[in-house]
Amino acid sequence: MAEPARFREPDAVSLDDGLPTPDGCLRTRVLDVTHHTDQLFEFSVERDPGFRFRAGEFAMLGLPLRDTPFRAYSVASAPWEDHLTFYSIKVPGGPLTEKLQHLTPGDAIWLRRKTTGTLICDALLPGERLLMVSTGTGVAPFASVALDPAVYEAFGTVVLVQGCRTGAELQFANALKKRIATDDLVQSFAADRFQLQTCTSREPGTRQGRVTDLIYSGELFDAMEGAPLDPERDRIMLCGSMAMLKELKGYLGESGFVEGSRNTPGSLVIERAFVG
Ligand SMILES: Cc1cc2nc3c(=O)[nH]c(=O)nc-3n(C[C@H](O)[C@H](O)[C@H](O)COP(=O)(O)OP(=O)(O)OC[C@H]3O[C@@H](n4cnc5c(N)ncnc54)[C@H](O)[C@@H]3O)c2cc1C
Repeated sequence: MAEPARFREPDAVSLDDGLPTPDGCLRTRVLDVTHHTDQLFEFSVERDPGFRFRAGEFAMLGLPLRDTPFRAYSVASAPWEDHLTFYSIKVPGGPLTEKLQHLTPGDAIWLRRKTTGTLICDALLPGERLLMVSTGTGVAPFASVALDPAVYEAFGTVVLVQGCRTGAELQFANALKKRIATDDLVQSFAADRFQLQTCTSREPGTRQGRVTDLIYSGELFDAMEGAPLDPERDRIMLCGSMAMLKELKGYLGESGFVEGSRNTPGSLVIERAFVG
């Protein structure tokens, strides 16, 4: 028997004021919604064939409601999939997510066609090991990267490091790991090459602590049974809170990692998981 949810799922409400779809946007239907905790949920939507993106990029997402802003959302599914997945926070009183959390299958969302972002393989120099370090919903773009066959052509080992406050918040990353290990297609290119390393800051989990401490102490590399951090062979993507990004950017810069971009690839790319 399924365990009862320990939180109350939001009620269904009307999320459509019948507004015309703005220029440059697509209107698409929600297929599925899963609430992981009272602060996190994921949903998938139909994918218009005209909606193109690279693994790791984000899009601007809105609702056909008056007085509701568009917000940046990382695509959490792979470019080859026929649907789009998003992983979202529920901010109390948040202008978008206070409403977005009420989505149910059949509802409509708006997506701006143009996608962008720095967390793309093209912004990294060739390397042997890719480390994707995330906190909270910063894991979303890395789900897309981890499901992209091209990343396994570029790197021998792909490691996702996810830090959250509690074990319940790790459900999204754990489900990704399970999918990579069991989905026939994904398994064929990723199974032996993908690793997930997790930690929780507020509750004893598999490993308690912050992602920064895991890296500084070397515990991460022991757990991976891999060599210590090396700017010659490692490539790093960071996505999460400003505090984590600022701290690791300084540390990695001192360790010899150089930030890259589409035009000038480097050994490190960084993106904020939210503003504020
Ligand atoms: C490049 C980029 C990619 C993003 N991708 C995602 C994504 O995939 N999933 C997602 O949920 N959000 C993502 N965000 C954040 C998103 O754009 C919104 O901020 C979020 O959906 C909340 O919207 P809101 O209007 O309800 O509240 P806002 O007014 O946007 O935010 C209110 C406050 O809530 C906090 N907050 C906002 N987003 C988060 C978050 N994700 N985690 C923790 N605290 C947060 C901040 O303190 C912020 O000041 C991304 C932001 C950027 C810049």
